Amino acid sequence: MTDIPPDHPRYLSLLTRERLAKGVRDGIASEQGLIAQGRGEAFDYLIGERTTASAREAERAAVAMLMLAKNPVISVNGNAAALSAKEICRLANTLDAAVEVNLFHRTEERVSKIAALLRSEGCGKLYGERPDRLIPGLSHERAKATSAGIYTADAVLVPLEDGDRCEALVKMGKRVIVVDLNPLSRSAQTATVTIVDNIVRALPNMVALAQEMKGMSDMELGEIVEEFHNDRALAAALDDIVDNLKK
Ligand code: ATP
Repeated sequence: MTDIPPDHPRYLSLLTRERLAKGVRDGIASEQGLIAQGRGEAFDYLIGERTTASAREAERAAVAMLMLAKNPVISVNGNAAALSAKEICRLANTLDAAVEVNLFHRTEERVSKIAALLRSEGCGKLYGERPDRLIPGLSHERAKATSAGIYTADAVLVPLEDGDRCEALVKMGKRVIVVDLNPLSRSAQTATVTIVDNIVRALPNMVALAQEMKGMSDMELGEIVEEFHNDRALAAALDDIVDNLKK
């Protein structure tokens, strides 16, 4: 990997870029994933490369929603695996959630590599290698899902999801949580909870929140979910961008 001096003003952003480039070289992420990351970086720049107050609220509501779910599942694509495999497994294990590998540009080789990476990070319940169902309304490869995993999940965390798949999951009646730096994307607009934050900040935040919130009753968790309104969170994200540009 390129040596990035820690005092570089864009250190974290460059480190993330390097991590994803390595993910592509290792066959974890796809080349198209680099372009998606580029769009994410542009929005991160606009939002000030920080977790905003409204993103933090969305992260709290998302954790509460996953804690209340009967069958919570974290969907993992190439970028999510390359950038955040360790934190995904930590979050899944803390929430007792399953993880399912789900790729837009699916090859069995890439699925196996991502599954091996997640296992090496201690992931317990892992699906995606032998999908046996199709999500209605999507083309065949992208529709693949597992009965015990995403197909029957009541709440799904889909970091960096594309809009079609997010919409198809919502149509199945699931609560869908996305992590997407672009508050205008179709995923962001369609999800039940949209976390407008970089995955590399959002997941560690969510692990810490899941640990903090462990003792809460279902009633307390339910109140957190009820108090959250996605349209307000999206409007706040756009306000944050405008405020940041005015600085
Ligand atoms: P949609 O179909 O939802 O409109 P899209 O086609 O614009 O999305 P994709 O190309 O599927 O988007 O890219 C995935 C999305 O993930 C983009 O909206 C991008 O802003 C976001 N994104 C990319 N990298 C990150 C990251 N590291 N953290 C959070 N979000 C990211």
